[in-house]
Amino acid sequence: LRERKLVVQIIPFENRRQILVTHDATESERIEMMRRDFIANASHELRTPLTVINGFLEIAQSQPNLDVQTRMGHLKLMIEQGHRMQNLVEDMLTLTRLESVEYPLRPERVNIHALLEQILHEATALSNGRHKISLDVDGPDIRGSTDELRSAFGNLASNAVRYTPEQGSIHIAWTMTPAGPRFTVRDTGIGIRPEHISRLTERFYRVDKSRSRETQGTGLGLAIVKHVLLRHDAALSIESEPGKGSTFTVTFANKAICSADEAA
Ligand code: ADP
Repeated sequence: LRERKLVVQIIPFENRRQILVTHDATESERIEMMRRDFIANASHELRTPLTVINGFLEIAQSQPNLDVQTRMGHLKLMIEQGHRMQNLVEDMLTLTRLESVEYPLRPERVNIHALLEQILHEATALSNGRHKISLDVDGPDIRGSTDELRSAFGNLASNAVRYTPEQGSIHIAWTMTPAGPRFTVRDTGIGIRPEHISRLTERFYRVDKSRSRETQGTGLGLAIVKHVLLRHDAALSIESEPGKGSTFTVTFANKAICSADEAA
């Protein structure tokens, strides 16, 4: 538990000294610390690919007569690192937008069927035949932002693919429960040890940095999921067993449901 810290100012008043508590610094200090951490992490994440790209550019300059095959190899590595930086910058912009009061949620009717078919399609492309992926949709449409939910559901589905070894299976479902409509992604992947679960939605928190990077992870996916769900009044729960697999469940409030005739 962090100690609370109060900012005090001593203000002379009618020849006496009075102590006024002006504000509680605990919260602003915490926010400042988070901001510093975020910048430090983001800079570190960008520095690695930049170092690789600069290294190969210097080789290209100092060794102009390298054979075509070697040069193609270097170009491929530079392109990969460029993509990594692009993913990171895009995720950072997405997070900033989601947190900004200037971008309020613009709710619309979300066509769940179409959205989840798209999520299935993208997960299947990412898996490239390495997993068995299935989808069941049996629940109502809801009101929300289709773009934001595509990003949240897409992140959960792509994580399932990225953290599930070959031959594993992934099941995506949309169901109606007494608590409200529910999106679930269940995988038979590597699982997560219990001590990590409560920290997964923190920016740049990863159980295994090298695996996350190998699979094009930015470490921001679940932070984006958390922010989208906050904006939608939806709750995320994570159940996992190391070596067996994980289930990520998103439950929406009943008030989010669209009636059958409600317009888009
Ligand atoms: P990343 O880009 O690293 O995947 P995320 O924010 O999406 O970042 O996820 C944070 C961490 O949570 C991951 O690095 C990984 O350790 C863990 N994780 C997320 N989804 C799963 C999953 N389905 N199975 C196992 N671990 C997962």
